[in-house]
Amino acid sequence: MSKMTRRELGRHALTVLAAAPLFAACGGGELECAGSPSADQRAVRTALHYVDHGPDTSRHCSRCSLYVGDATACGTCAAVPGAIHPEGTCDSFVARAS
Ligand code: SF4
Repeated sequence: MSKMTRRELGRHALTVLAAAPLFAACGGGELECAGSPSADQRAVRTALHYVDHGPDTSRHCSRCSLYVGDATACGTCAAVPGAIHPEGTCDSFVARAS
């Protein structure tokens, strides 16, 4: 078994990092909605305990009446600023009427 030098390891890591956006753009990767929220936006997101992947699927953003978007792309929210993941959740969840 051959050992990889630090230089080779660094080169491989850079290749993987460079390719990552391509996978996301082609739908080959998991949906990312982190964006670059401002400090004020981050403060609101943190205060409302927003997370990109909520453990309870019945309380996902895509099922919340404040969510604007669909279940396959990043959306927005009337209460939480910045990009919102359809599988996210927060303390302000309001179930959509069925
Ligand atoms: S209020 Fe919370 S749960 Fe509802 S869409 Fe906004 S971030 Fe998601």
